[in-house]
Amino acid sequence: MRVLYAAPAASWDRWSTHLRAACPEMELLRGGDPASFDALIYAPGYPESGEPLDFRPFTRARLVQSLWAGVERIVGNATLTQPLCRMVDPGLERGMVEYCAGWALRLHLGMDAYPQDGVWRNGLTPPLADERRVTVLGTGALGAAVARALVAVGFEVVGWSASGRAVEGLRVLPGEALAEALGRAEILISLLPDTPETRGLLDAARFALLPRGAALINPGRGTLIVEDDLLAALDAGQVGHAVLDVFQTEPLPPAHPFWAHPRVTVTPHIAAETRPQTAALLVAENLRRAMKGEPLLHRVDRERGY
Ligand code: NAP
Repeated sequence: MRVLYAAPAASWDRWSTHLRAACPEMELLRGGDPASFDALIYAPGYPESGEPLDFRPFTRARLVQSLWAGVERIVGNATLTQPLCRMVDPGLERGMVEYCAGWALRLHLGMDAYPQDGVWRNGLTPPLADERRVTVLGTGALGAAVARALVAVGFEVVGWSASGRAVEGLRVLPGEALAEALGRAEILISLLPDTPETRGLLDAARFALLPRGAALINPGRGTLIVEDDLLAALDAGQVGHAVLDVFQTEPLPPAHPFWAHPRVTVTPHIAAETRPQTAALLVAENLRRAMKGEPLLHRVDRERGY
């Protein structure tokens, strides 16, 4: 099986050993006649010219396996007719659980309320987690894992997704119940993908539905948030704090008001990354399925965009 590594050259050393170890029967190549490849392993940033990849010459390819969970940079490529699968990886999932649990606990416990300045501020005891209501927008691979971990800590967690599809151990509200999902969210976590439907979802009207002083954690995609509306909601105290990992423009420009805002924590799109050690196993499994004509795992619905 001939597979093209269609990902930035800088990632080759990190990935190639694990991919070859997980799938020894694969010939993993960085170039060659497009018509000779059985599959592509893809990550944004390929080709390095910045041009969108033209998938038409890959006439034999039965699979385009993304190394990223988010596929918004490829799903709309009109030349892509081959099956596209997104990344679901235990290492990525654990990283996202730790990121969200860590920041949720910091916000819940008010860890920043104790400057080390000699003042004995013992007037306020933080509530227990079961007195804190958390809403997780998006209950897919990552959102469901995050929600379950927060339930295990004791938080009062509700999920929200387009379908309202059941997730074991979690109450999930359907798309039409967004106002209810927001209205209870003392901590709001978003793990929604970037699609035409999610773009600009969190605007002034939606921020107004949150309980006053609610905290926001967004490691999903920056396009979800109308940034000027979030700044206004932060200035008005409607949103108490925002932990943002993803932005409308990345890298976040140095002059962007988020950097200096006292109620914003910026992290540079590091919430969770695909771990080659574990992710290579999914890639290998999907390559084998593609070769045998079996159903692929985590196939992207091109209509929905995720
Ligand atoms: P996923 O398994 O595809 O789950 C997506 C979830 O979002 C599903 O529950 C889906 O609802 C819901 N959803 C999609 N569109 C919606 C809409 N219009 N209204 C309501 N719910 C909607 O994705 P995932 O693996 O959990 O990943 C989620 C996102 O995390 C990725 O797309 C990526 O953007 C982001 N991410 C960020 C990082 C980082 O480091 N910051 C790392 C990895 C991933 P249904 O269940 O009804 O389909």
